Amino acid sequence: MNIAEKRVRQSIIDQCVFMNASGLNQGTSGNISARFEDRMLISPSATPYDKLVPEMIASMPFDAEYGAWDGPLKPSTEWRFHFDILKSREEMGAVVHAHPTYCTTLAIARKEIPAAHYMIAAFGGTNVRCAPFARYGTAELSAFAIDALVDRSACLLSNHGSIAIGEDLDQAMWRAVELETIARQYYLSLAIGPVILTDGQIHETLQGFSSYGVQDEYKDVAVTTSDDACHGAK
Ligand code: 13P
Ligand code: ZN
Repeated sequence: MNIAEKRVRQSIIDQCVFMNASGLNQGTSGNISARFEDRMLISPSATPYDKLVPEMIASMPFDAEYGAWDGPLKPSTEWRFHFDILKSREEMGAVVHAHPTYCTTLAIARKEIPAAHYMIAAFGGTNVRCAPFARYGTAELSAFAIDALVDRSACLLSNHGSIAIGEDLDQAMWRAVELETIARQYYLSLAIGPVILTDGQIHETLQGFSSYGVQDEYKDVAVTTSDDACHGAK
């Protein structure tokens, strides 16, 4: 394994540890993958994140037999949707799946997230869909997730959790955190009656996002935190 691959493997581990430390996820729920050259690297199944070392990350070539993997531990049981997303969405480099409390609460009620906050636009449109239920780890769940992600960079999974995708791991995790924030805000607003933004207001927001971000000359000095990365701008 060369240094570049080791770095990506370590980044997967760091994001897994962050995901639990931040309260976004718990236990060995959730899983994270990243594209590396012609392969997908993915967290192993049912292994505590604080016990992971780079060698334990599973590797799945895109061009080998579907499901073929290398590594000392089995890949996440959700390798199918990670693999299918990265294979079909070439612009994307990473997938974060978690069981965050508010995303999952809405997904238990089978509710999509509407445009309750303008930040919904960070996921590509006027809503974040909720995929129908299928048992974890199945090809059916993967197909439902792929459908729910059309023109979007996140979805909810009925009675299960969330998926967020990004060009790289930082962007995918930023979206996962942002999604849980909007889910919490929307859930709380349901008690007093949310006013949902119009499609036109979200399209205007999307236009604003295209010019939002740190100016080029300051990119090196900008510290990237989830707040600084507001709107997913790079
Ligand atoms: P793994 O431990 O196999 O990654 O599964 C966790 C999970 O979230 C299944 O949906
Ligand atoms: Zn799960």
